[in-house]
Amino acid sequence: MVTRFQEILPMPEKIEWIKTHCSRMDHGGCGILAGVQNGRIIDIKGDADGFLNQGYCCAKGRHAHEKLYHANRLKTPLCRVGARGEGQWKSISWKEALDVICENLSAIRQANGAKSVAFCQGMPKGMEHFALIRLAHTFGSPNIVAVQDVCHAPREVSGLHTCGFYPVADYHHLSRVILLWGSPLRSGFCSGMDKRLWNADTEGNSLQNSNCFEILKKRICR
Ligand code: SF4
Repeated sequence: MVTRFQEILPMPEKIEWIKTHCSRMDHGGCGILAGVQNGRIIDIKGDADGFLNQGYCCAKGRHAHEKLYHANRLKTPLCRVGARGEGQWKSISWKEALDVICENLSAIRQANGAKSVAFCQGMPKGMEHFALIRLAHTFGSPNIVAVQDVCHAPREVSGLHTCGFYPVADYHHLSRVILLWGSPLRSGFCSGMDKRLWNADTEGNSLQNSNCFEILKKRICR
């Protein structure tokens, strides 16, 4: 029976859950379900079919749609006005921003040489590091620094020298002994890897019962 109330107020559009992947605020790659209503993402949850995460989705992933819709999202470059530290900014166009950057970099190169400039960035999550290398080389500087220089790159190079290839963790066949350090199970992993470890015995593995894991569990989870 349709009530008078339902006649007046249109029923909210059903949420459509779309399978996708987290927009990678880390190196996770969790499978997620994005809930779309009226053309907007209104909710995000982990996809139980996700190979790595098996339904897990961290707080960053659950709020990923705020990168699109948050009121404080930057939509244009900002240029500082006033003294450094005053927190005064004005919005400028991309062309203006590129002109200012180009002018300043050219002046530094002319005064001190190209090698006086280092090109740095945080953790690359796509191809941006290669774009940065190209920019630095075009500018004439060999100085390129990213967090991967103390993380992924040495891991890959040492793997090549030690094993002849780049070894990666085998999540299909969990080990009976896993040695963890420096990263608590419940807070340090991405992609729900902790879920895979904790569920290890339901996957036919006696990981949680192993002596080694018991010791680790006591030390890590207290
Ligand atoms: S751990 Fe979180 S941020 Fe990383 S891929 Fe998964 S949901 Fe995204």
